[in-house]
This record gives sequence, C-alpha cells and structure tokens, in this order.
Amino acid sequence: MKIRSFDTYILDLPIIRPHQLAMHTITAQSVVVGRVMDEEGREGWSEVATIGGASYGESTPEAIKANIDAYITPLVIGRDPIHFDKIMMDVSKQVRGNTFAKTVVEAAIIDLAARSKGVPAFELFGGQIHKSLPVAWTLASGDTAADIEEARGMLEKKRHNIFKLKIGKGDPFKNVEHVRKIKQAVGDEARITVDINQAWDEDTANYCIAALQDAGVSMVEQPLAAWDFEGMSRLTAKFDVPVMADEAATGIQEVFRIAKTRAGNSIALKPCKHGGLTQTKKAAGIAEAAGLGLYGGTMIESSLGTAICAQLYATIPEMKFGTEIFGPLLFKDNITVNDIEFADFEVIIPDGPGFGMEIDKEKVKHYAREFQSETEMRV
Ligand SMILES: [Mg+2]
Repeated sequence: MKIRSFDTYILDLPIIRPHQLAMHTITAQSVVVGRVMDEEGREGWSEVATIGGASYGESTPEAIKANIDAYITPLVIGRDPIHFDKIMMDVSKQVRGNTFAKTVVEAAIIDLAARSKGVPAFELFGGQIHKSLPVAWTLASGDTAADIEEARGMLEKKRHNIFKLKIGKGDPFKNVEHVRKIKQAVGDEARITVDINQAWDEDTANYCIAALQDAGVSMVEQPLAAWDFEGMSRLTAKFDVPVMADEAATGIQEVFRIAKTRAGNSIALKPCKHGGLTQTKKAAGIAEAAGLGLYGGTMIESSLGTAICAQLYATIPEMKFGTEIFGPLLFKDNITVNDIEFADFEVIIPDGPGFGMEIDKEKVKHYAREFQSETEMRV
C-alpha cells in the first residue's frame, strides 16, 4: 500500500455571522483541504483552518498550499500511510516550521491509514477515552445585549454552557465591563472564559484580570504576546483564575518551556499549532506530567477539521477545560455528507472509519478557489 498522490485545495466557506477576534473579523473562513490517494484508489481527507490571512501567523492558506505542493508532497509519494509517524519525522528533517501544512498532510495520511484498516483514527492513538466532550461557544458579536441573547438561546437548547468572549479588540476596560454584564446575566448557569489573543500589555493585564476574577470569569486565555513567557509567569503566579497559554503553546519545546516556567497553568491544544496529531499527543503528555490543565482548541475548522480534533481530543485522559470545537455550527454549508453532532452541552465524537466523516466532493469542488487535481487526471 503506497501513496500515489496528494492534492491540496483552498476553500472559502461562508459563515453565519461576523466573528470578531483581536486581530481580525471573520466573514468567510478559509480552510485548506488535503486529499491523499493510494495506488488502489483509496482516499484520505483532511482539513486545517487559519484565521484572517496572515493576521494569526505566517501560515496563510496560500503558504500552506504552496509549501505542501512544492516541498512536502514529493516526500510522501511512494510511502506506506500506516507509517505516518516515520513519514512526518522524515518530512520534518527537510521542512522547518510549517506546522499547519504538516498537520493537513499528516491528518489525510492518518485518515487513509485508518480507513484501510476499517477503524476510526482514534484507534491509532490508543483508542477512545471520551464518547463526547464539553464544548464552549464563542460570543463574538461585540454587542452585549446580542451576546446575552445568544447565550440564553444556547442554554435553552442545551447546546453550550461555557461561553468564551474574545476581548482583545477595542478598549480593555469597556470590554471587561461587557464580560461582567454577560456573567451577571447568565449567573451560575454558565461558565464564562475570556480570550485576549495577545492584545494586552502587562499593566493592562494586571488591572483587567483582577476585575475579571472579581466578575467570576473562570479562565483567562493568552492575555500577553506569545513571546512574553516571563510576563505570563508573573500573571499566573499572581492570580487565582487559571491563565491559559494558546498562541505561545506551539511546538512541544514551547509547551515544555511553559510547563517549566509556569508561563500559564493550562494550555490550549490545536494540532495545527503543534505540527500534527502525533505532536499534539506529545504536547498533551508534557502538560499532563506538569499538571497543566488542557483545553481542546479550534482554529474554526468546518466539520472535517473538527472531526480530526475531536477524535484526537477523545484519546486524551483529562480535558480539564473541555473544548471549543464548535466550528461546524458557525458555517453555513458543509463539505462532508454527515454532520458533527452536538447534544447536552457536548460534542459527540465521530466514530466511523478514518475521522468518521464522508467527504462531499461536489462541495469541495464548489468552494475550492481552484480545483485542478493530479489525482482526478490519473484516475
Ligand atoms: Mg485562543
């Protein structure tokens, strides 16, 4: 069983409402989809998402595709997909960084490897521990009354009872007041967390985290710049409210550094930050050994990318802060035939072969910026 081809597509998917973050407001979400095919014509599919072009990081959709096509695809052709860890070790020797590109390649190969064995991908990672996981929703309209209404609707539907507020954009003090009003409105029915996405300096963080802690917020994510490990250590030591590292928690070496210097007492996992699923399991192991709380993060993937995260997170013993893999609920359309299911405030882990999702190729073609396929030509 050998890999014959690897295709990469950039898709622009419409979303249901503008999604405001510190660095960017998303109105359509760009995802990169990978398709690997073996010599028998079996396929594996994967997806990673990015946020706001280059505003989150250097891995733009265009860079991911260009680097896969030019540098990674030639290294995976002819390889046996079941040896995905060895394949990615060899890729890493020749391709530095590019964690998003590596993730889309590794995940497609894992999907193919698992499908060829007729098992869910989580069987290749020690098996499923969780059947479902708590899932937070991001209130990101920027309007207090609208956010409260949205939260109440979600509680009524038993969809979410953890709400994350993205408060890195605009006046920090007004934003803290916005959070306080929302926490007051939902009371004990819901947990409120905040994500600053690196937007504050340490003085602002000192003042605002004290107020957020008083308001009953249950977690503060990446208040300082990703490079400011020392500042994060000071904030973590100073406050009782958990401080989570997200943008700073990239490779396993950075996760180890966070653990060692306590630059956060919890970390957000995201396969695309760590460089793939195998690397995410390693990051989770370092965090577990150090007693850091774990959170199943999202880059706002659609159903396929969410299934990849969900299946992996389902193999991690304790997800103290649950997950935020609500992505599919934010999209107007779907590139898979089946949907990710949500019930009783949790996301249900897909358990079909591979990552458990059946690709809708017509939708991939419809939303792809360009659909030219080496694979199609050869089939
Ligand atoms: Mg974050």
